[in-house]
Amino acid sequence: MTVGNMESAVLFDGEKKGRGLKANKELSAGEVVFAEPSYAAVVFDRYNFPGYCSFYCKCICFVYFPLSLASQVCHSCFRRQAKLHRCAQCKFAHYCDRTCQTACWDEHKQECGAIKKIIKAPSENVRLAARVLWRIHKDAGIASDSQLVSVDELEDHVTDLSEEDLKQLKTDVHNFLEYWSYGRKQHSTDYISQIFGIIKCNAFTMSDQRGLQAVGVGLFPNLCLVNHDCWPNCTVILNHGNQSAVSSSLHSQRRIELRALGKIRAGEELTVSYVDFLNLSAERQMQLRERYYFECTCEHCSKHIKDDLMMAVAESKPSADKVKEVNAYSKECLEKIEKSRVEGNYNEVVKLCRECLEKQENVLADTHLHKLRVLSVASEVLSYVHSFTEAADYARRMVEGYMKLYHPNNAQLGMAIMRTGVTHWHAGQIEAGHAMICKAYGILLVTHGPNHSITRDLESIRMQTEMELKLFEQNEQVYHSMRDAALKKQPLASSSSADENIKGLFCKK
Ligand SMILES: [Zn+2]
Ligand SMILES: [Zn+2]
Ligand SMILES: [Zn+2]
Repeated sequence: MTVGNMESAVLFDGEKKGRGLKANKELSAGEVVFAEPSYAAVVFDRYNFPGYCSFYCKCICFVYFPLSLASQVCHSCFRRQAKLHRCAQCKFAHYCDRTCQTACWDEHKQECGAIKKIIKAPSENVRLAARVLWRIHKDAGIASDSQLVSVDELEDHVTDLSEEDLKQLKTDVHNFLEYWSYGRKQHSTDYISQIFGIIKCNAFTMSDQRGLQAVGVGLFPNLCLVNHDCWPNCTVILNHGNQSAVSSSLHSQRRIELRALGKIRAGEELTVSYVDFLNLSAERQMQLRERYYFECTCEHCSKHIKDDLMMAVAESKPSADKVKEVNAYSKECLEKIEKSRVEGNYNEVVKLCRECLEKQENVLADTHLHKLRVLSVASEVLSYVHSFTEAADYARRMVEGYMKLYHPNNAQLGMAIMRTGVTHWHAGQIEAGHAMICKAYGILLVTHGPNHSITRDLESIRMQTEMELKLFEQNEQVYHSMRDAALKKQPLASSSSADENIKGLFCKK
């Protein structure tokens, strides 16, 4: 596959919606429509709290980093690793190894000098704007053949910015000028503001290799041309590439991949979702208006599709007053849960979740958003503190709700089923666990592809659970005694990523 190949997608200029991309040929589920390396990308310098990332990854990450991410993530391949090598010049950039450092030098060399000069690296926004401008200079303003528009032709929405955003923009421009003074070529404040505007409404948040944490941000010009739909026909995924493969023929570059979620006819518009579907249509529209400055008129928003399920009440038909009361209670409780979660007070989180679920019982349906949010936090926290049986029960209920709401090939659905499967496996429920892991694998093959590191991890888990399931089916008693022995010998280590916990639970013979 050639990175940057745009044969399957063509640019069109729609009168009402503006420009967009459409399929140039028929595409099937899991097919890569196009892959694109970043025009420019940088690693975050601060640790991030869970928040909305653009496109695929609304972080549901549960891991908080006490240290700056800049020293924990490779600035070339964006993998999170324990031992990274530091750039001897600026002491800011970090890399897995020489291969990653060499691959990135072209992008880093001017930045390296600039950081060395001002001693402390500026914010990621400023670093990204500078990388964009260095790249524009390097390319002398000429976009490559595979790039459909030049970067400064992208939407910037500077005139739509709120007062608060304008204040931030002013600070960014000020910091940029201090940083950029290293470079020879000067730009007008207007042009620099335009670049910041472009970054604000087009930048793509990049996650680590396990999809657990947002670690950086990049600009992908062709991807920016793909319009939004709350029920999209494509998904976008960051593939970290393989730069350290022993054989150079197996090397691949870090890139985003636009992947078809199902069959797409030739001529059909290609779409991705910029926000999480699990919000009422009015809520999604508000997020899109505030962040991307447009009014979503997609079919799901205009017909309020699935809004009824997301607000549904229990079958026992509780009174309107009761529903109102429980909704208000849930809202308040979810705020408290979030606060305790950020503070790391997990006992309190679990206590609040249990109380809230009890109140919701027989009042809200299992697809109600308030219920799903509580189930999601409860299962994450309980599996983090290794209460797997209770965690598995909540996770299963959450996933059953998700399956009624999400597109069957939604990436977040796939990841949620994967985590739920692993939690069941942890809880010793091998049959349910294996079934869910297989289901998640099927979704990830479409959304992430077979070569993504998450899919590969899941594949090895799937082989392991398959083997254990066979053992379980042959002799349940032997299975349980082996499991107990393995657990005694190798207690589950506390780890951020669920699948890391269980690898090696049973020693492979
Ligand atoms: Zn690397
Ligand atoms: Zn450096
Ligand atoms: Zn919509």
